[in-house]
Amino acid sequence: MPDNKPVVNLISKPENMLKTVYTACRTCYSAEAPVNIYNSTDDEEKMLKLIERVISSGHFSTIEHIQVSFAISNVSRACTHQLVRHRHMSFSQKSQRYVKEKGQFDYIIPPTIEKNPELKEKFEKFMTEISNLYSEFTEAGIPAEDARFVLPNAAASSLVASLNLREMIHLANLRLCTRAQYEIRILVKKMCEELLKEEPWLKAYLVPKCERLGFCDEDKSCGRMPVRG
Ligand SMILES: Cc1cc2nc3c(=O)[nH]c(=O)nc-3n(C[C@H](O)[C@H](O)[C@H](O)COP(=O)(O)OP(=O)(O)OC[C@H]3O[C@@H](n4cnc5c(N)ncnc54)[C@H](O)[C@@H]3O)c2cc1C
Repeated sequence: MPDNKPVVNLISKPENMLKTVYTACRTCYSAEAPVNIYNSTDDEEKMLKLIERVISSGHFSTIEHIQVSFAISNVSRACTHQLVRHRHMSFSQKSQRYVKEKGQFDYIIPPTIEKNPELKEKFEKFMTEISNLYSEFTEAGIPAEDARFVLPNAAASSLVASLNLREMIHLANLRLCTRAQYEIRILVKKMCEELLKEEPWLKAYLVPKCERLGFCDEDKSCGRMPVRG
C-alpha cells in the first residue's frame, strides 16, 4: 500500500508567467502595443508592484491568461469529489469504468483512523472484504462500471487537473483554510508548493483567504485571524 499522502507534480506551466501577467495588466493602462510591453520589461519589482495593485483592485481577468497542469495520484475519491466541484478547473481522471481493479485496490486511510491500531485493523479488513466482493462480481462477468458501485470513498484515484491562475488562487484561498477537509488541504498545499518552487512571487497569493482578507469570514474560526466584525 503506498503512503497515505497525495502525490502531486506540476507538469505544465507557461515559461514567462510573471511577464505575461504583467503585460496583461500593463496593457490596460498603456498606449504601447502589448508586444512592446512584453519585450521591454524585465524589472521584477516593477512588475510585482503593478500586479499586486491590479489584483487587489479585483481585476482578475489579467491572471486568467496563465494555465497550469498537475499530475495527481494517491488521493481518495472523497478528496477528488471535492476537487471536481471547482467549476473552472479541467479534469481527466482514472476511470472506474474502463480500469478494472485487479486484486486489492489501493485506498487511503484517514490519519484519525491510521493512528488507532484497533480501528485501522477493522478498516483494512473491511477494504479486503470490499475487494473480495468486487472481484467476485467482476469474475462473474459484472462489468467494472457496475462492480464499482461497491467501491468506497477511500478508493485511491489519479487525475490530471488544469486551471488558470485566477482559479488556482481561489482554490488556495478556500482549500488552505483550516475549515477545509484534511486531505484536500494537503493536496492543494502540495499543488501550491509545486508551483511556488518555480514561481516564488506567487507566495503572497497562494494563501488561505483570511490572509488576503485580513480577517476570518468562517462561522467557526481557527483563531489565526480576527473574525469578521
Ligand atoms: C470548507 C468547505 C466546506 C464545504 N462544504 C460543502 C458542503 O457541505 N456541501 C457542498 O455541497 N459543498 C461544500 N463545499 C463546496 C463549495 O460549496 C463549493 O462548491 C466549492 O468550494 C467550489 O467553490 P466555488 O463555487 O467558490 O468555486 P469554483 O467553482 O471554483 O468557481 C470559482 C468562482 O467562480 C464563480 N462562479 C463559478 N460558477 C458560477 C456560477 N454558476 N454562477 C456564478 N458564479 C460562478 C464564483 O465567484 C466562484 O467563487 C465546501 C467547500 C469548502 C471550502
